[in-house]
Amino acid sequence: MINNTWEILGQDGAVKRLTLDLIHNRIAHAYLIVGPPNVGKYTLATRLAQALNCTSNDRIPCLSCTQCTRISKEIHADISIYHVSQTNGSRQTEIGIGDVRQVERKVVLKPYEGSNRVLIFRGAEHLSEEASNALLKVIEGPPPQNVFILLTDNIQLIPATILSRCRRIDLHAIGEDLILDHLLNNMQIPETEARLIARLAQGRLGWALQAVANPELIRVRNEDLNQMIRIMTSSLEIRFEVASQISRLFYHNRSEAGNTLNTWKSLWRDMLIIKYGNETDVENLDYLDTFRNQSLNYSRTQIAHYLKDIIKAEGELESNVNARTCLEALFLNLPSPSNQG
Ligand SMILES: [Zn+2]
Repeated sequence: MINNTWEILGQDGAVKRLTLDLIHNRIAHAYLIVGPPNVGKYTLATRLAQALNCTSNDRIPCLSCTQCTRISKEIHADISIYHVSQTNGSRQTEIGIGDVRQVERKVVLKPYEGSNRVLIFRGAEHLSEEASNALLKVIEGPPPQNVFILLTDNIQLIPATILSRCRRIDLHAIGEDLILDHLLNNMQIPETEARLIARLAQGRLGWALQAVANPELIRVRNEDLNQMIRIMTSSLEIRFEVASQISRLFYHNRSEAGNTLNTWKSLWRDMLIIKYGNETDVENLDYLDTFRNQSLNYSRTQIAHYLKDIIKAEGELESNVNARTCLEALFLNLPSPSNQG
């Protein structure tokens, strides 16, 4: 359920830990909030920043005082947010030393409008080596009234030295029923749409809320599914054309190309689930009939192998191999449809 005061859905353990830290005055110099994308890491960091500055004196964020409101609107002078940024069309790939130098200058000053300065690093795994070494020195013992909150969905990439100086808070994917209940009862989303979004969200409330706010997300996903279905029965020539299209998208917008691959993966995984007779577990609820028909053309082995090929391609694209070669190979490996029954 939504925690009454923090308004965080399904992360009661994390909220309880932070509330206890606040009540007992044992706020850490630095927190590391760990969890998959879109599960609410940034919202939790914002709530902690609010609790640390709220004037309601309950050590819980009231969400209505000037401090809480200004933090929600991201206009509070003492809350700084650092992340990998997009400048001049070229994507910066790291949080650099420049940001940490700015932090060093800030922490020696008194907070300007609130009682605590909060420095939030979104995607802390992207700190450059130089930046993380410099940050390490600051988070070891910052002047009072400064709290660091690092957020990451990839704990493996956080240096052990940073890990050892942060209090770790884990967030998890939450239950589909919690998300469904929230969409139906708090947001009044029509049932069919709510069920689909809750299923596709895979436990990520943030993703579900984005899908409600921006119908484009579902539209793009439909296009990706339809494209894969077309490719499955099209000539090699057309497959190579699509490979070149997606590889261009990959250089231009990496995360969108990643989403496409992820959507294709869900299609093949769903076909495998159907093959094993577990139709209630299918992710793409609205494509069940289509996938059921498609799955008749392939054997379990063919589908399982192709699913592995997509997972392998995802890994290769992550490690910067030539995107076009990788996608061409992926399409070349598409199993030939044959009547498997
Ligand atoms: Zn407040």
